[in-house]
Amino acid sequence: MKKEFVVIGLGRFGGSIVRELVRLGADVLAIDTNQEKVDEFAKIATQAVIADTTDEDVIKSLGIRNFEHVIIAIGENIQNSILTTLILKDLGVKQITVKAQNDYHARVLEKIGADFVVHPERDMGIRIANNMMSSNVLDYLELSDEHSIMEIKANDQIAGYSLIDLDIRAKYGINIVGIKRGEAIIISPAADEKILLGDILLVIGADVDINRFVKKMMS
Ligand code: ADP
Repeated sequence: MKKEFVVIGLGRFGGSIVRELVRLGADVLAIDTNQEKVDEFAKIATQAVIADTTDEDVIKSLGIRNFEHVIIAIGENIQNSILTTLILKDLGVKQITVKAQNDYHARVLEKIGADFVVHPERDMGIRIANNMMSSNVLDYLELSDEHSIMEIKANDQIAGYSLIDLDIRAKYGINIVGIKRGEAIIISPAADEKILLGDILLVIGADVDINRFVKKMMS
């Protein structure tokens, strides 16, 4: 059975979510108050409707409650975002993901029961800053305020050495939990696994420790 999603707010963020979900084969009901946006997405989404989601009767009439997952991508208008979240939560929607504009908005959303709160601009800023600090840091997944998993490309300073040679865990307190090598991926690599030039290391740990490793090994 196809997965079914509702995306509310068809700005840049919501719009790209609709496009990607459809590309991945999901059914998507796209909603916006703006006629032009809805016209644009009528050709892309499974269904696109004009509606104001701060109106409870409207939400009920659209049957949003029956969808597995609702994404609220209302940007600027924080009040509409909060009200929509509240109404959907009261109606018993199981999974609600909401885009937060700032930390206060995020805190309110968490208090009223949003299941996932995302900060796309902030996260993208962090990701780009990390990439700028070192071209060897390819990607970044935040686990907490202080911990993350980073994809780090092996350069000639570490290629040819095994994990035991580098002794990364003892020296930096971080762990290499996987190695991407071309199409292959080595999960939990053995201590004597030799790193090759161009390998992508999946490193988990505290941000300060990972950054210390990157600075030392990749400068
Ligand atoms: P982004 O920063 O992702 O581009 P925008 O703030 O530009 O986000 O877009 C948010 C979209 O949400 C707009 O197209 C706007 O018309 C829509 N929107 C705002 N309030 C509501 C609402 N109550 N119901 C439905 N859509 C809404």
